[in-house]
Amino acid sequence: MIEHPPSRGLYMLAWLGVWSTSWFAILCLGIIAIFAFRWPWLLMIALPTFLVSQIAFIALAFFFRCPSCGHFVFIQGWRPMHPARKRVLAGLGIASWIAVAVDIARNRQFTCMHCGERCTARV
Ligand SMILES: [Zn+2]
Repeated sequence: MIEHPPSRGLYMLAWLGVWSTSWFAILCLGIIAIFAFRWPWLLMIALPTFLVSQIAFIALAFFFRCPSCGHFVFIQGWRPMHPARKRVLAGLGIASWIAVAVDIARNRQFTCMHCGERCTARV
């Protein structure tokens, strides 16, 4: 267990990631609503909200690195990731960064997807 330097920013950014992901789910519902009910308002609200929050999240994600290996906490990149990492939809192995964001937001801890080290994220 390695301690991340106390960081309110990392905690806030994790919540931004969770928030943005929730809007992605609403966006998908909005697309269904257009086809099912010809009702565009949900999509018109969800699309810009998701895009702005996701762009902000990605931009801010470049400020936070794993204290153990030095790779970006939320940026997956193209290199193979550590088998001990947490995953959303573990069977498919996708969206590791969402699992990291949820872990920090709920438990103030995360498992680095690059080195597999368990880190605390104190505020
Ligand atoms: Zn790491």
